[in-house]
Amino acid sequence: MNIILLGPQGSGKGTIARSLAKDFGLIPISTGDLFRESIAKKGKLGLEAQKYMNKGVLVPLDLTIKILTSRINQPDCQKGVILDGFPRSLDQAKALEKIIKIDYCINIDLPHEECIRRVLERRICPKCHQGYNINWVKDNTCPKCGSKLVQRDDDKLEAVKIRLEVYEKTTAPLINFYSDRLLKISGLGSPEDVYKPVKAFLSKLGGKN
Ligand code: AMP
Repeated sequence: MNIILLGPQGSGKGTIARSLAKDFGLIPISTGDLFRESIAKKGKLGLEAQKYMNKGVLVPLDLTIKILTSRINQPDCQKGVILDGFPRSLDQAKALEKIIKIDYCINIDLPHEECIRRVLERRICPKCHQGYNINWVKDNTCPKCGSKLVQRDDDKLEAVKIRLEVYEKTTAPLINFYSDRLLKISGLGSPEDVYKPVKAFLSKLGGKN
């Protein structure tokens, strides 16, 4: 089973992806994380993508498809994947059709003011790449590995506003593209509240958990 997560920045896609990985054995793939990992290793694809990422705009299609397919073609992805942050445009959705079959799309709805608030409070671990809310961690330190958490450059206010505009204009129309296999949920509430209808929906289909 292959699933797409749609939702604006800060809507909790990464958190849902981690829960789905745990409960259903699917492999979470975030194109943003793949780019950041490549940047950290000074990889060619990452360094080319970085100039777009810093501005909060989309990385060109050819680079994004390259980094995605190199991950999807790894053997563990045979189990099924959860795509977080891909596709982000109609062109990407059409290109994806030629790579894998998408069974379901989960759309997380969250008002922009709440997205901005959450993103501004987000810090990430430079080692594990996991995101945390600044209010939920002690001493701005990663609970898993003890690294000092950092704020992503594109999580600063000006970049977040641009990213949300890009989301509304280019990504939100995908809700229609996937209307025949869509689950709509609210991103408001605790991570457990948000995940509950997703787990119920997929469990009913007979997914493993
Ligand atoms: P994210 O971590 O998903 O918020 O992504 C961070 C940044 O990586 C985005 O603002 C884009 O610049 C770039 N990016 C991630 N995924 C994609 C994608 N599917 N298409 C184009 N750019 C992407």
